[in-house]
Amino acid sequence: MVACKQWHDLPADMSTPFEGQYQSHKTLTPTTWNLIQMNERVDKEGKLHWDFSKIQCMHCGDPACADGCPEDAIERQDNGCVVIHQDKCVGCGYCAINCPFGVPKINKETNKSTKCDLCYDRIAEGMEPACSKTCTADAINFGTKEEMLALAQKRLDGLKPNHPDANIYNPEGVGGVHMLYVLPEKPEVYGFFKPDAKTPASIDVWKDVVKPVGQVAAAAAVVGVLGLAAIKGMSGGKKGGE
Ligand code: SF4
Ligand code: SF4
Repeated sequence: MVACKQWHDLPADMSTPFEGQYQSHKTLTPTTWNLIQMNERVDKEGKLHWDFSKIQCMHCGDPACADGCPEDAIERQDNGCVVIHQDKCVGCGYCAINCPFGVPKINKETNKSTKCDLCYDRIAEGMEPACSKTCTADAINFGTKEEMLALAQKRLDGLKPNHPDANIYNPEGVGGVHMLYVLPEKPEVYGFFKPDAKTPASIDVWKDVVKPVGQVAAAAAVVGVLGLAAIKGMSGGKKGGE
């Protein structure tokens, strides 16, 4: 989280007062793009467990945030990074509503949507994301999806003997993710990873029907205005000639 803040020049976030908890912030915020979430639970045998998970944008293969953005402000790059272009964002908040994980947060000061961008600018320069670069425990790794799937499978094989519910979290409902997880427990245990995460069906209607019609209507309105201006111009010319 600190490396992320350093790279993105994000200020300290005092929105969650320290009350002795092991989780720094209650949730992602406009200036906290990832955090370590802690979940406490008691299993069937009465044993207490603390489950930690790093949460941030999942960089979905079929990102609902991008599909529903009326300004085309969110780009899904070929390498899997899902990036909000701040110059195009108008702060409408549709991305926050549509994201199955509730990730994007609107910065009320700038009226722009914010989230993890997978350090796409570092990747473009041949570097790895700040979080994976700084992780001393080798808990975060960076590579091609094929490499990460192979590594995930290796780690899963190691976990299975003691964690029968261990799994690779890569939900098909959002087109797979580019932030793969090897979870020792079922996804629902952690409170962030939904087992049935999926891109809302309404997004397809918006993307394939409503948005194109809206764009045609907007274009027609512009043509209409221009046509009116031309007619007015012609009319004005005639008047001037009279
Ligand atoms: S997790 Fe949410 S914000 Fe991130 S790519 Fe998926 S839909 Fe978009
Ligand atoms: S808040 Fe910005 S990025 Fe999100 S849907 Fe609206 S314009 Fe797009």
